[in-house]
Amino acid sequence: MKRIQIASPAIGEEEWLAVKDPLLSGWLTQGTYVAKFEREFAKRHGVKHAIASTSCTTALHLILSALEIGPGDEVIVPAFTWVSTANVVLYCGATPVFADVDRRTYNIDVRDLERRLSKRTKAIIAVHLFGLCADIDTIKKLAPDIPIIEDAACAVGSEYKGKTAGSLGIAGAFSFHPRKIITTGEGGMVTTDNDELAERIRILRNHGASISEEERHQGPQPYLLPEFNFLGYNYRMTDIQGAIGLVQLSKLDTLIEERRKWADFYLQELRSLEWLILPEVPNYAKHSWQAFVCYVDENKSPMKRNDIMKHLFEKGINTRPGTHAVHMLNYYRKRFNLEPDDYPGARDCYKYTISLPLHNRMTEDDYKYIVKILKEFLKELK
Ligand SMILES: *Cc1c(COP(=O)(O)O)cnc(C)c1O
Repeated sequence: MKRIQIASPAIGEEEWLAVKDPLLSGWLTQGTYVAKFEREFAKRHGVKHAIASTSCTTALHLILSALEIGPGDEVIVPAFTWVSTANVVLYCGATPVFADVDRRTYNIDVRDLERRLSKRTKAIIAVHLFGLCADIDTIKKLAPDIPIIEDAACAVGSEYKGKTAGSLGIAGAFSFHPRKIITTGEGGMVTTDNDELAERIRILRNHGASISEEERHQGPQPYLLPEFNFLGYNYRMTDIQGAIGLVQLSKLDTLIEERRKWADFYLQELRSLEWLILPEVPNYAKHSWQAFVCYVDENKSPMKRNDIMKHLFEKGINTRPGTHAVHMLNYYRKRFNLEPDDYPGARDCYKYTISLPLHNRMTEDDYKYIVKILKEFLKELK
């Protein structure tokens, strides 16, 4: 039996050919390909600066570090997200304060967010989960003086009221992990319009060095060594990845268009299943569909969520729960003395969501087969 994967990177011959030059050039780490990838990425996302890093996690860490967030500070993060959205706050010695999420958009619940604001709140990380932008304008209204950092790991090419993800807050962080829409194996990107922040992030990414390796090697003063004014990190992307990223970025619009087409197909075809609540797309958003995540209403469904997933697996269809409720993970539960019921929205999203396969290596037959199997559930049980 054929198995339909939940995700599969859209890598082809072009990426394979693109790595030859940087690989043979003798300059393997951050260099001209990364610089070009950054310029193109900034252009596509409508921002002044794009700064490549090793992952979205390190991109977020760079932003928080550059904003000098540290011990005693609080950063609000949604409770339903990938664990690293909260981990990066702890890397800085600050405290993550969770806010609940909305069961229809899976993004931060702005009313709950309002309750979590305090005098110590130094930033809000708004996650654009699965490719749908969080309601940034409402968040800005509630907290006009607090910087908003976008966790845009899933949201390359997504839009909010005609503006691109990554240009909506003080800075954005993107991921190029293979589960995301475009990939460099591992990799990330910071976007920002803020010159000072961009400069600080470039320095922190490169060990805190005041001049970069490229400048040092190209300059006429061989005796020059950089000064180190900050505690930095090595979060540089390799030029091999930069070359892959450039090719991937050139395919982005086509990849998203295709995802939109099949997401619309799911939305249309699965509408009649009253036990399956489909992802909501508010008017302000242009979704990029990094994942197609549905919510099972177990009061109406033929089986429990896990049994549905098991049944789909037996039919050759791989699925996953949407993502984690971070407040329910052992480390966070124990360290911050949290209960599942503290964030009922996140708890339910964790318990009842299913991510259906949607990626750029699926065929029309794959989508039709999945819809057919889902529609046959009730019939088979009768
Ligand atoms: C994937 C993901 C991350 C982490 O991205 P990496 O590049 O793997 O570090 C962070 N936040 C969200 C919402 C994600 O989906």
